[in-house]
Amino acid sequence: MSVSHWSLIEEQRRRLAAEVGTLHKQAPVQIALAYPSPYHVGMSSLGFQTIYRELHLHPQASAERAFLPDDVAALRAARAPLLTYEGERPIAELPVLAFSVAYELELTGVCEMLDLAGLPVLARERDASMPLVIAGGPLTFSNPVPLSPFVDVILMGEAEQLVHELCDLIAGAPAGPGGRALVLDTLAARPGFWVPGHPRGLAPVVARADDERLPARSQIVTPHTELSSMFLIEPERGCSRGCTYCVMRRTTNGGMRTVEPERVLGLVPDHARKVGLVGAAVTDHPRIVPLLRTLVDAGRQVGISSLRADRLSAELVGLLARSGARTLTTASDGASERLRDAIDRKTKEKHLLAAAQLARDAGMRTLKLYLMLGLPGETSADLDELVRFGSELSKIIPLAYGVAPFVAKRNTPMDGAPFAGVNEVEHKLGYLRAALRGRAELRATSARWAWVEYMLSQGDESAGLAAMDAWRAGGSFAAWKRAFKERGATPRGAQRPSDGRLRLPALAAWPTAAP
Ligand code: SF4
Repeated sequence: MSVSHWSLIEEQRRRLAAEVGTLHKQAPVQIALAYPSPYHVGMSSLGFQTIYRELHLHPQASAERAFLPDDVAALRAARAPLLTYEGERPIAELPVLAFSVAYELELTGVCEMLDLAGLPVLARERDASMPLVIAGGPLTFSNPVPLSPFVDVILMGEAEQLVHELCDLIAGAPAGPGGRALVLDTLAARPGFWVPGHPRGLAPVVARADDERLPARSQIVTPHTELSSMFLIEPERGCSRGCTYCVMRRTTNGGMRTVEPERVLGLVPDHARKVGLVGAAVTDHPRIVPLLRTLVDAGRQVGISSLRADRLSAELVGLLARSGARTLTTASDGASERLRDAIDRKTKEKHLLAAAQLARDAGMRTLKLYLMLGLPGETSADLDELVRFGSELSKIIPLAYGVAPFVAKRNTPMDGAPFAGVNEVEHKLGYLRAALRGRAELRATSARWAWVEYMLSQGDESAGLAAMDAWRAGGSFAAWKRAFKERGATPRGAQRPSDGRLRLPALAAWPTAAP
């Protein structure tokens, strides 16, 4: 073993030693549970952690985790295989390799990990002697089609129950190619599973887990995550609201499902000093304040993933401040009241003004607002309104915007809406930065990578193949552009949403955006 390979293993061992809650088990169905981003990102994923626990709950299954290496080049230079954490086994040695994919840009991580495992990246080039490769995760709520060339089975939507069905089937299947074919044939006919290219397969349908499986929660707490040593738990799933750009809106799996605070509190381990309440619309939980109060009174530091400005109260913001929060983060999303109305985002200026006041009164230092830029029909008048209103807010409390270019998603009324264009988004960002200088800080995600995300979120298999080509070519933006062009990947832009919910005049003739 080379020195560099040894140091990579040492790093894995250091991380394992720092974890609380790691599971070890011997079982016939052994699954390498892979996250196509580095450890500190993957271990912050509630879905990944929940599926890890569910797999271990199955009487005949066990899971060993693997992550995209922090330093892929070092692993390649060491000519070493990618190892699981728990068993330090090459991931291709386990009979099942399961990916949890959160969003479009992680497709290259899937390609990388398959390649590091010594497996062909394309499913059609693998044979029955190789692991069954499956995938699930948040990406499957919107558009898993670009993922389909790389995997044998996709678990659509909420996978807590689907993984038990899958493990039952694998455990009961005969060994060898016949058993694998039987598993694929059976899954192809079951709702919630998608076997790409199967001649008798069902169309992909997002699954819903039984309420008894809720709440999702951390299995492992570790200091080496984005949310250092925070125990995550989901007091509600889904959302009862109808923002037209959002995959988690009320039409997805029946809207919001809540968990009683008593059950949530009973599942928070004593050792967890930091607790993250995670969900699509946590502050819409009807008993969020008593839940938060109990946690804070117990001396815990608490974060909430989704604060809705119209649900904030002095007590709720005060509790967050008492538990250590220095920034109040919520979303305005549209640049103007007109745009927010158009996307059915119910946040009004009065709610954001109240949020700023509450944050200041609670002694917080900053108000942070998420904002989408480049919505269809957005005009300079909308940006001027943002500048005027941002200036007003900044007189109450220091203000920061987290800006993301708008990317249309499948399974939403805005599916098919075009991307504004890299140049246009950058131009608008430049304008806002100059106009808000000294009054608000703007932190923006890259317009270029948002365009890549758009091409994947609105694309088909050819977009997935382009992701593979771009990864092979080094992953630069130029490589992505070239790959999309050569694969003929075409987004679903210039199509109108079927329910006509978008009401902006400029939508009459959507241009097809180009970078
Ligand atoms: S954006 Fe938030 S509030 Fe709107 S539907 Fe989605 S989860 Fe609900």
